Amino acid sequence: MFSLTNKTALVTGAGSGIGQAIAQTLAAAGAHVWVIDRDAPAGEATVATIRAASHRADFAALDVSSESDAHALAARLPAIDILVNNAGIGHVGNLLGTAAADLDRLHAVNVRGPFNLCKAFVPAMLTRGSGSVINMASIGGIVAVRDRLTYTITKHAVVGLTKALALDHSHTGVRFNAICPGRVETPFVKARIAEYPDPEKAYRDMSATQLTGRMAKPEEIAAAALYLASDEAAMVTGSCHLIDGGWSAGK
Ligand code: NAD
Repeated sequence: MFSLTNKTALVTGAGSGIGQAIAQTLAAAGAHVWVIDRDAPAGEATVATIRAASHRADFAALDVSSESDAHALAARLPAIDILVNNAGIGHVGNLLGTAAADLDRLHAVNVRGPFNLCKAFVPAMLTRGSGSVINMASIGGIVAVRDRLTYTITKHAVVGLTKALALDHSHTGVRFNAICPGRVETPFVKARIAEYPDPEKAYRDMSATQLTGRMAKPEEIAAAALYLASDEAAMVTGSCHLIDGGWSAGK
């Protein structure tokens, strides 16, 4: 099950955290993975880990917020079967602590990024009549996260983008799904925790938000991406997969 032999995947933000785990997992399942990141040394390091395990990967630098660069990348890459729009950034603040520029900055990466990559790579999938697009949303795409106004707005937009693409391109063989993680132990989260006056308490509090009592590991999110990328998920489109340790069930 879940073999990706003869498939080519592209994973954005694969130089770190969840994206790196997804790239490694898809490659281990047999896919040739294009590791995409704006941080070239980080992306190259991910490629090195995949090749060290005797799997296939290549790196290409891209800032996903650039529409023209996304199209230029699509023009030089082989056909992509699996597109994982994982790159994303965060911002802490409620309305009073948020400038319009903060919203624009998050929107450019979290929303325009997946939009740009879909514009660049989905037309060829539609022509071929097959493909799997996986957008990394968040628990913040399902419920509001306190003091994360721009993050909540943009991750709700990722969920909307996913559903709209699935609806507009139904009956095409191309599937569109979102993953909504709760807290995952990655550099993204560790950097936020380090900013708190009491980082150890912040770590405990964030872990307690989830009914499992702990944060997820990146590999636990990558497992869902592997399923959604695979032919076993042929009946799954337009859906949002919560891997939030029960966060959304209530508190
Ligand atoms: P991370 O910060 O560890 O890694 C993000 C990677 O994306 C980095 O390598 C960074 O260089 C790259 N990146 C950022 N902006 C980019 C851009 N404009 N173009 C290309 N690459 C860019 O983050 P992570 O925790 O692994 O998060 C990955 C995704 O998962 C994000 O979309 C995030 O919102 C989402 N997410 C994370 C968590 C969590 O708890 N970590 C929870 C829910 C959702």
